[in-house]
Amino acid sequence: KPVKELTENQAATEAADLRPQLIAWGRAYYDADAPSVEDDVYDRVYARLVALETAFPNIVTPESPTQHVGGTTRGDLPKVNHDIPMLSLGDVFSIDELKEFDARLRENVDEADRDFDYNCELKIDGLAINLHYENGKFVQGSTRGNGRIGEDITANLETLPSIPKVLTRPLTIDVRGECYMPKQAFLDLNERREAEGKSPFANPRNAAAGSLRQLDVAVTRDRKLATFMYNIADYDPLDTRTQSGLLDELAELGFSTNPTYQVAHDMDDVQAYIDTYTGKRSDLAYGIDGIVIKANPLPLQRELGATVKVPRWAIAYKFPPEEVQTVVRDIEWTV
Ligand code: NAD
Repeated sequence: KPVKELTENQAATEAADLRPQLIAWGRAYYDADAPSVEDDVYDRVYARLVALETAFPNIVTPESPTQHVGGTTRGDLPKVNHDIPMLSLGDVFSIDELKEFDARLRENVDEADRDFDYNCELKIDGLAINLHYENGKFVQGSTRGNGRIGEDITANLETLPSIPKVLTRPLTIDVRGECYMPKQAFLDLNERREAEGKSPFANPRNAAAGSLRQLDVAVTRDRKLATFMYNIADYDPLDTRTQSGLLDELAELGFSTNPTYQVAHDMDDVQAYIDTYTGKRSDLAYGIDGIVIKANPLPLQRELGATVKVPRWAIAYKFPPEEVQTVVRDIEWTV
């Protein structure tokens, strides 16, 4: 039934049914790295809950999955506090919804700042990591966890060749990005696992998460994980003041960054970026599940801030589910 035909009571009852289901799916996905349903099933139920709670804000409960960054921490891994939280992303599934996001965002910005660009980036299908450097030296690496408390996986991350141990400048910074398993490494790993009688990983994202959240560092080293870094907790120590410049500066510092980003002046440019990467998606060596648009000026990002769960200055456009399945099938066909 369309949300606008519901009474508040009906909406509250439906939301109360959806939340435990989403929480249970979230546990399997984030905590056990073994999803029990396809992402698009989760996404559709989550989108319905968001629609219900948006139409009837009184029905929101503190434990609702809309109020938390998904994920917890494994009991046997040490914990790390994220002083500046690691957030999720709001998502949309159509160009029209992207245009609505753009219009709303510009309305909320002072007129003088309204003419800003977006930086378009691929949405890498991995898991978020934080890399802490002191005076240019890598000292601690962690998972996102619940956004406020993550897991200390320093020793695991030290085994990744793409993570610099020393930066080209002695900065004290927290750099954030995605750890992922390239498609070929995923296929090889599952082939090996099946030969050994072990259950295969459901997808490269879960394989990456399972490989990183490991007590045995030798297992992580063996798994051919890679990274793309795209964010910094606090940009003050950097020279740049734009998101696109941030990617260039991170590369200069020694990080692996994804070279496919593009600055978009308007939504036509964003649409062109989406079209390009919808076409190129299956040729990429790594999985992507959408694209992310981010307000390009970093001071504007800071000014707009975030809700409890997502930044207000960015949004993810998720590819349609058929495509997700096609890519998964493509991978299988290439075996
Ligand atoms: P998300 O993965 O959809 O988006 C947020 C994340 O995108 C960030 O934390 C970051 O790690 C990542 N990201 C990748 N490239 C990025 C870039 N260029 N810039 C910024 N961020 C980038 O959100 P989430 O909260 O991590 O997880 C929700 C998603 O997980 C759902 O949409 C669903 O598809 C999936 N999920 C599936 C199940 C299931 O049972 N199948 C359960 C829970 C969640």
